Amino acid sequence: MTHERFAPVTDSIVGALRAICGAANVIYADAPRLNRYSRDQVAEKHFHVSPEVVVLPGTAAEVQAIVRLAHRERIPVTPRGAGSGLSGGAIPVQGGICLSMERMNRIIEVDTANLVAVVEPGVVTNRLDEVLKPLGLFFAGYPMSEEICTLGGNVAHNAGGGRAIKYGVTRRYVTGLEVVTATGEILTLGGKRVKDVTGYDLIGLLVGSEGTLGVFTRIIIRLLPRPRSRRSLLALFDDVRPAIETVPEIAISGRMIPASVELMDRISFQEACRSLKESLPYESAGAAMLLESDGFNETQVAEEAAMMESVCRAKKPLAIFTADTEVGSNRYWKIRKQVPWSLKALSTHSSVEDIVVPVSEIPTIIAKIVDLEKKYGVRIPVFGHAADGNLHATPLADPQSTEAHWHELIPRLLADLYRETAALGGTISGEHGIGSKRRQYLSLVMGTGQIDLLRRIKATMDPGGILNPGKIFEED
Ligand SMILES: Cc1cc2nc3c(=O)[nH]c(=O)nc-3n(C[C@H](O)[C@H](O)[C@H](O)COP(=O)(O)OP(=O)(O)OC[C@H]3O[C@@H](n4cnc5c(N)ncnc54)[C@H](O)[C@@H]3O)c2cc1C
Repeated sequence: MTHERFAPVTDSIVGALRAICGAANVIYADAPRLNRYSRDQVAEKHFHVSPEVVVLPGTAAEVQAIVRLAHRERIPVTPRGAGSGLSGGAIPVQGGICLSMERMNRIIEVDTANLVAVVEPGVVTNRLDEVLKPLGLFFAGYPMSEEICTLGGNVAHNAGGGRAIKYGVTRRYVTGLEVVTATGEILTLGGKRVKDVTGYDLIGLLVGSEGTLGVFTRIIIRLLPRPRSRRSLLALFDDVRPAIETVPEIAISGRMIPASVELMDRISFQEACRSLKESLPYESAGAAMLLESDGFNETQVAEEAAMMESVCRAKKPLAIFTADTEVGSNRYWKIRKQVPWSLKALSTHSSVEDIVVPVSEIPTIIAKIVDLEKKYGVRIPVFGHAADGNLHATPLADPQSTEAHWHELIPRLLADLYRETAALGGTISGEHGIGSKRRQYLSLVMGTGQIDLLRRIKATMDPGGILNPGKIFEED
């Protein structure tokens, strides 16, 4: 139900939106089309809410006019990229306007002299990569959903991916932003410069703000030279523990930073392989680790791969498979990328989580997760970015149980999982964000002083509370 401080979208508001964006770019009174904007990749239906109207602006000036109207008329505005998020972030939980950035999808410039790309927020992340590839460049903060997500969504979630251990996450690569504020000003922050300590770090505040502090209309992204060479290895173990033990050893004895260290536990790995009809001997594996080295010097990359292999061998793996070609590496990545989809297919209800713990605590949190499986009678496969301590524990409903049972069980299970995570020095989201899905648990990992400060920042930047209400905080 819409909060009483907001006004409904009336025919006259829709008329004003049509005047701003053109009638063809406003979706109203068309339930099937509105319904397409009611969800993201959070599977549970009770999180899904249709917007009252969807607008598809084409320029920053149109975004500005829409937000000014919404601010004046007290109508919620929820920015939306591709809706691939896993926290309900793009779901308009208070109704109002869904501001879909899909038409603002131009790659404005690739500036090779300054090694930056200037893009609109609706560019699909992989499309930028396709343009950069022939130039020998890349955006290193991309998430593993790069084929479906947008750069605006990446910035709003401070996305990280399978290479964050070496290259860091999106924040590191955003040097400039054009933002429409919640009161309708257009701010130009940063630029093409690499360094900037002029005043407070507003870009740092906006990256990861989940569409609650401003709408990005232009993004400047720092580019890196694309590694010339990479080698991958897939090590199969009988258990998660030896797999995790390789992580610090690769850094210390190997004196190297791997490009990727991806963990898949037994169910994750086996289900992904099964659904891909893989010929690898996956049935006996209790865990799999996908490791990668990359760089510009082929000999060094090969040496690093050999080092990772020898660290893995010392942990008595069941098998190690290596790849020194694009095709071979892609085969292993296909398995890793298949994991969330194959887990989703296992059960009618599932919840992809995003906990982070210090790396040394991964075996402990996994043991706690096994306890939770027993306590709640559900399976909780785990996969994710092991070297970041970022694990996608994924509770799966028992196929025999009812939807009502799942709805009663999952909040208790998640509260237990998050308490255990916090007790180990961890937190509830590493890259997917809080959104509407995790807001009720924020106080498990943040003190009231910190939450109050976040609320005061929100109130300063969005005095009417119209930008993506119902996210991050339990109540607005
Ligand atoms: C299979 C799969 C794998 C994934 N792997 C990863 C991964 O490796 N790493 C990772 O970080 N995430 C991952 N994700 C989650 C998701 O893809 C990312 O969070 C992605 O960055 C979301 O982009 P989007 O365009 O779909 O954003 P949406 O889901 O549309 O929106 C996400 C948030 O961004 C806000 N937003 C969107 N555009 C703007 C804008 N222009 N201005 C202001 N706010 C805006 C929305 O309001 C919302 O709060 C994965 C998801 C799936 C389904």
